[in-house]
Amino acid sequence: MTRVALLKCEDYDSLLIVEKMLEALNLLGLEPEIFSGKRVVIKPNLLSASAPEKSVVTHPEFFRAALRVVRNHGGTPILCESPGFQPLGKVMKKTGYDRIAEEEGCEVADPRATKILFHDGPCRFKRFEISSAVFDADILLNLPKFKTHGLTYITGAVKNLFGLIYGLNKSQWHLKARSKEEFSEFLLDYYSALLRGFEKPKIFIHLMDAVIGLEGEGPGLAGTPRNIGAILAGQDAVAVDAVVTGVVGLRQKEVLTVTLGEKRGLGAGALDRIDVKGDGLDAFQIRDYAPSKASGRTPVSAWPLNTRLFKDLLVEKPVPSEERCTLCYQCKAICPGGAIGESKGESGIPCYDYNKCIRCYCCMEICPEAAIGLKRGKLQWLVSKWSS
Ligand code: SF4
Ligand code: SF4
Repeated sequence: MTRVALLKCEDYDSLLIVEKMLEALNLLGLEPEIFSGKRVVIKPNLLSASAPEKSVVTHPEFFRAALRVVRNHGGTPILCESPGFQPLGKVMKKTGYDRIAEEEGCEVADPRATKILFHDGPCRFKRFEISSAVFDADILLNLPKFKTHGLTYITGAVKNLFGLIYGLNKSQWHLKARSKEEFSEFLLDYYSALLRGFEKPKIFIHLMDAVIGLEGEGPGLAGTPRNIGAILAGQDAVAVDAVVTGVVGLRQKEVLTVTLGEKRGLGAGALDRIDVKGDGLDAFQIRDYAPSKASGRTPVSAWPLNTRLFKDLLVEKPVPSEERCTLCYQCKAICPGGAIGESKGESGIPCYDYNKCIRCYCCMEICPEAAIGLKRGKLQWLVSKWSS
């Protein structure tokens, strides 16, 4: 039975987190000496240049604790991340990662150095351009931040690995896999390639920062920080995501990387197939954790649901706010659908072509001012009433 360690942890004191991480490894049956003499790629969530208290990135003290666990047990840590839009240096500076990497002595992989990972499994997608540092690593230490997500419902251990794909290339995958279902299948193809595509398989360890998560319109600055008080650990990313979804009381069947991941044999998605060690699910009494308003349930890639009419009726659309927008146009640069143009109006805020918009919500994720909100489709209130 797959094991997941679930521990209470109420603050970002790095000494406390080191203790919890060691306890979690022990509960998984792993000796910390597993890091000895190994090259350990550390993959936090560094989505964008934002202050740690906004809860968009894996907390820097969580990262520090992971570095200490690796270093103190003879491992060589290498930070590996490629933010969606901004340069890694800028994101590291704003989040405090640059200082910590220097203080603790951590190599930083160049996000532009990439190599092709090919896995000829029973998958639709087989070829992925990822950070070359992963190829040289023995261990992949994944440090996801638990957040809600407009397209994939949550972002956790499986989704965090997407950040090993170089910068803006990530948004191009949204064009190839447009609906929630397709995108989740793509993430699982990719996860499967990471698990099975290297000549010498990597050891995976996932340590999740769910001390303070993000609810509502995550995973970017439009989300709201929410205290959860948990650290999770496991070697099965699907199981870690299943357990954290249970911790916050969200609907597990909505997390397709969990349900489809289980179906495809990539991990344990059902809670009764997971041995939860440590404080247990009952130690957490969260009943009102808010998901993103974007249901992402409509398969917008399939005709006739990909027509403007149906999308307008049934799917939330991103709408920029005149009051908050600073006209940086990062949303336009990241938009894979080419749906965002410059406004001809007085305000100058971006102009959206909802015919082209594939509802991937990358623009919301990246907006540095949390200026993009969601507007429900005209018939959605009716559908939600009917299905409730
Ligand atoms: S909506 Fe956000 S990302 Fe787009 S231009 Fe305005 S501030 Fe920039
Ligand atoms: S407008 Fe936003 S949601 Fe629509 S395709 Fe572009 S990035 Fe995705």
